[in-house]
Amino acid sequence: MAAHQEKKLAEERKHQNMQNGTKTSQGQWGRAWEVDWFSLASILFLLMFAPLIVYYFIMSCAQYQCSLTDPLLDLLTGNKHLSDIWERTPMLTYRAAGIYSLWVTFQVVLYMYIPDFCHKFLPGYMRGVQEDAVTPAVVNKYQINGLQAWIITHVLWFANASCLHLFSPTIIFDNWIPLLWCANILGYAVSTFAMIKGYFFPTNAKDCKFTGNFFYDYMMGIEFNPRIGKWFDFKLFFNGRPGIVAWTLINLSFAAKQQELYGEVTNSMILVNVLQGIYVLDFFWNEAWYLKTIDICHDHFGWYLGWGDCVWLPYLYTLQGLYLVYHPVQLCTAHALGVLLLGLLGYYIFRATNHQKDLFRRTNGNCRIWGKRPEHIECSYTSVDGTKYYSKLLTSGFWGWARHFNYTGDLMGSLAYCLACGFGHILPYFYIIYMAILLTHRCIRDEHRCSSKYGKDWERYTAAVPYRLLPGVF
Ligand code: NDP
Repeated sequence: MAAHQEKKLAEERKHQNMQNGTKTSQGQWGRAWEVDWFSLASILFLLMFAPLIVYYFIMSCAQYQCSLTDPLLDLLTGNKHLSDIWERTPMLTYRAAGIYSLWVTFQVVLYMYIPDFCHKFLPGYMRGVQEDAVTPAVVNKYQINGLQAWIITHVLWFANASCLHLFSPTIIFDNWIPLLWCANILGYAVSTFAMIKGYFFPTNAKDCKFTGNFFYDYMMGIEFNPRIGKWFDFKLFFNGRPGIVAWTLINLSFAAKQQELYGEVTNSMILVNVLQGIYVLDFFWNEAWYLKTIDICHDHFGWYLGWGDCVWLPYLYTLQGLYLVYHPVQLCTAHALGVLLLGLLGYYIFRATNHQKDLFRRTNGNCRIWGKRPEHIECSYTSVDGTKYYSKLLTSGFWGWARHFNYTGDLMGSLAYCLACGFGHILPYFYIIYMAILLTHRCIRDEHRCSSKYGKDWERYTAAVPYRLLPGVF
């Protein structure tokens, strides 16, 4: 079987490299092949605790008005037992299973069978078949139609809320915990399926990566681009839909719940809906650009992406809206304006920085950035088969300020969502803490990869652009 041969080859390569005393990172696809103890410990920690963390946050809101300390205090003082908390937790229901199955099926249908129409009335929108992620086996092609999936879903949502009344707009909030069990079932099912598929029927055996460590392979994935048939791409589907299409619907459902409970929607809830809505819309407008991000170009598909997209993203990225259902915060005008400006500025930096790199790479440097010819560093790298490639690293525009200024913009936007919730509780601030850890780790991991890839050229680049996130600070 192709995958077994590839696995054997990978093990032989690893053995040879160890004998030669060479590092295995240069020119290889995806993540590290040798699993160091720190990575393994982090992976085991996440596999064990990430589902508990999600449960703890959601349960804290449902049972403790979003207090993160009260459940712990109750348990430590013996006031409550774990079984008491568990007994008050809603279980999986047929209704939730039905809603969730219908939701995922609907997104599959939109993804697979509805050709894009948005380009007919939206000039400049990139869609249709796009090429990207060149791997040792193939040049991957993707069907881009995410924006229309988002539009159709939301038009139906508003049609139902305003005139059809087939279901309540609070449906997501009302089934939040039963839906969590459904999301977990899908998250674990798809990650386990991806692992089995990687071993027994991979889409491209040459793109599989076996580290020999079961937990690492399960978490970080074996297959680079698992697919079913020609077009059903696991990474593109699971990251964008159901996860990101759901994000804005979840927020709308939280806003509807506020309206039902308090007779009004607070300005903080509107801010969270608007700012996160812009971020989500941007994602779909630029879905073709997303093909150039680390998720698609470097990461393999395992539990990290599969479970993360099904559970972590929809449940933890929406904590602000959930919090505001339990604590409706009405901000004073100055506070609301400050949050709006920070959110918009963060979004602008995030988008403009990503756009500058995309434009630079797409035109091979034949473009203008801030009205000038872009400055850059010529670099080269050699792949495992010995072929030499050339590339360019941009050193002007926002990319001259810091090496990951796009992350800085993202962090500013994330902070704005949290600040919209006021200062009453720590829970809505989880997002900025998480994003700071995620993006700092991503920054280090990406630089480690780029340094192995470009060697001395990367050193010249870091000398030209010395800061990572904040010019003059970090
Ligand atoms: P980047 O878009 O920054 O891509 C990094 C890659 O770009 C590098 O591996 C390198 O690839 C290339 N590169 C690095 N420096 C330069 C340069 N100076 N000039 C040209 N190319 C360069 O990272 P991500 O894919 O991580 O992030 C994309 C966006 O998505 C970010 O804005 C991030 O904030 C956001 N994001 C959001 C998340 C969320 O959960 N909300 C999660 C993750 C990301 P090469 O090998 O081609 O040289």
